[in-house]
Amino acid sequence: MKYDVVIIGSGLGGLLCGNILSKEGYSVCILEKNNKLGGSLQTFGRKACIFNTGLNYTESLDEGQILHQYFRYFGLHNKLKLRRLDENGFDIISFNDGTYNLAMGIKNYRDTLSGYFPKEKSGIIKYLEKIKNICSSISLYNLSDKPFNIFECDSLGIGAADFIQSVISDYRLQNVIAGNNLMYAGHKEKTPLLIHALINNSFIESAWRVVDGSHLMINILAETITNNGGSIFKNAKAGKLLTENGSIKSVELTNGEQIEGKYFISNTHPEQLLSMLSTVKISSAFSYRISNLEDTIGIFTLYLVFKKNSFPYLNYNFYHNNQDNVWVVGNYDRAKWPQMYALMSTATSKSDYYAESASVLTYMKYDELEPWKNTFTGDRGDDYLQFKNDKCEMLLNAMEKQFPGIRSCVDSYYSSTPLTWRDYTGTRSGSAYGVLKDYNKPMESVILPRTKIPNLFLTGQNTNVHGILGVTISSVITCGEILNIQYLVRKIRNA
Ligand SMILES: Cc1cc2nc3c(=O)[nH]c(=O)nc-3n(C[C@H](O)[C@H](O)[C@H](O)COP(=O)(O)OP(=O)(O)OC[C@H]3O[C@@H](n4cnc5c(N)ncnc54)[C@H](O)[C@@H]3O)c2cc1C
Repeated sequence: MKYDVVIIGSGLGGLLCGNILSKEGYSVCILEKNNKLGGSLQTFGRKACIFNTGLNYTESLDEGQILHQYFRYFGLHNKLKLRRLDENGFDIISFNDGTYNLAMGIKNYRDTLSGYFPKEKSGIIKYLEKIKNICSSISLYNLSDKPFNIFECDSLGIGAADFIQSVISDYRLQNVIAGNNLMYAGHKEKTPLLIHALINNSFIESAWRVVDGSHLMINILAETITNNGGSIFKNAKAGKLLTENGSIKSVELTNGEQIEGKYFISNTHPEQLLSMLSTVKISSAFSYRISNLEDTIGIFTLYLVFKKNSFPYLNYNFYHNNQDNVWVVGNYDRAKWPQMYALMSTATSKSDYYAESASVLTYMKYDELEPWKNTFTGDRGDDYLQFKNDKCEMLLNAMEKQFPGIRSCVDSYYSSTPLTWRDYTGTRSGSAYGVLKDYNKPMESVILPRTKIPNLFLTGQNTNVHGILGVTISSVITCGEILNIQYLVRKIRNA
C-alpha cells in the first residue's frame, strides 16, 4: 500500500501531524513500535489506579490562550476533562526552611512573589515582561502571520539563570523563580532563556491537569485520524528507510514489510532516524552533528498507590529542593540523591479531595544504570529491582520530612528509570526531554524539521520545545513544510 504520508512514531508529535494532514485529505499511515500508542503520553494502571507517565500538567488552556486555540483546532478542547490547578499556587517551591507559591495570572504571580520579597517587585515585573515579550515575539505562540524563525530569538543565546540573576538580586527569589526547572531539566550553564520563558509564561497564564489520564488525549487524536481514513499500526517498528533517486521511497519494518509513501515524518529522536538511514548516503558533517548532540538528563519516577481516603489530592505540584541552589542538573551528586523531587497528584473524576495515586519525579543520570544498559524492560534481573526499590525507599524517606506520615498512606509503589524511557520511547539514554538546547551553541542544538532529503521531515520534542505546547507547535511547523505554514496558521486561528 502506498500512502501520501508515512509517520514513524505515535508520540504526541506523530499523532498531531497525522491529524493535521489527514484533515487536509492526505492518506496517512502511522507506524508505532510499541503495542500502545502515545509515546510519553502513555498511561498504565496498577491496583485500579491510572498513572500518567509524561503528562502531569499542561498550560494556557483558558479560552483565548494559545494551547486552547490549538486544542480547538484538534477537537480536543471540548472532549477532555480538565482540572484547573490552584490559582494562588499551581506550583509550590519548597526548601528545607520554607515554601513559596507560584500563582496563576501575571498580576497574581507578581503580587504573590512581591509579598514574600517586597524589595524585588520591580525585578519581578521586569522578569514577567521579558518572558511575555519572548512568547509574543514568536509567531506560533500567538498564531500571527509572521514567519516562524527560532534562530531570530536572541533569548536562545542567553542563559535562563543569567537573565534571572540580572533582574532579581535576592538569591532565594532567583531560585524560587527557577524552582520548577525539572519541567525543562534546567541546567545553569546551558538552558537558554527562550526555553525557560516559553514554558514558564505559558504555565503562569494557566495550569491544568487532564482528568482520568493522558491516554484519553491519545485516544481522541487516534480516533480522528482513523475517522479521516488514516491507518495506525501498532507493533510496527521502522527499521530502515529506502531511497530512490535521492528521495525516500519506503520504510522497511523490522519484520521486513515495506510501506511506501510520498512524504515521511519521523517522530523519533534524530539519532534513531540517522540509524534508519544507514543505507543512504548522508553527509559526514550531518551525521557527526546528530551523533554528537547532547540530550537532557533522564528522570526517575516513583508511582504511589495510596490507601483509600488516606492522602489528600493536591491541586498543585510540590517541588522540593534539598539545597538552596535549584539548578541541580549541573551539580548532580549521586551521594546526595535525591537532591530534589516533585510530587504530582493524579487527577481523577472519582475524587478531588483524596488522591488515589501520585507520581514523584527526580533526576537520574544514565551512568547510574550502566550495569543494566544491555537489558530490556521486564527482564533486567533482581539486582535492578533491588536498585529501584532502594531508590523508592530513599525518595519516600526524603518526602517524610515535608509530608510526615506519607509512608503510612502508601498501599504500594512502582517505579521507572531512564532505561524504562529508553526502551518505551526510543530516546537515547532515556533522556526525558530529548535534545538539549544550549545557549552557548544555540544553532547547533536546534534541529529543523526539514532534512536534506526532500521528502523526509522530523517532528516532536527534538525539533522545537518539549511538552504539550512545544510538541503541538513542532507538529504545526513540520506540517507547515508540507502544506504552507501561513495557510495552516490561518486554519488554526479560525478553528
Ligand atoms: C517524566 C516526564 C514527565 C513529563 N511531564 C510533562 C508534563 O507534566 N507536561 C508536559 O507538557 N510535558 C511533560 N513531559 C514532556 C512530554 O511528555 C514530551 O515532551 C512529549 O510527550 C514528547 O512527545 P514526542 O511526540 O516528541 O515524542 P515521544 O512521546 O517520545 O514519541 C516518540 C514515539 O516514537 C515511537 N518510536 C520510536 N522509534 C520508533 C521506530 N523505530 N518505529 C516506530 N515507532 C518508533 C516511540 O515508541 C514513541 O511512541 C514529560 C516528560 C517526561 C519524560
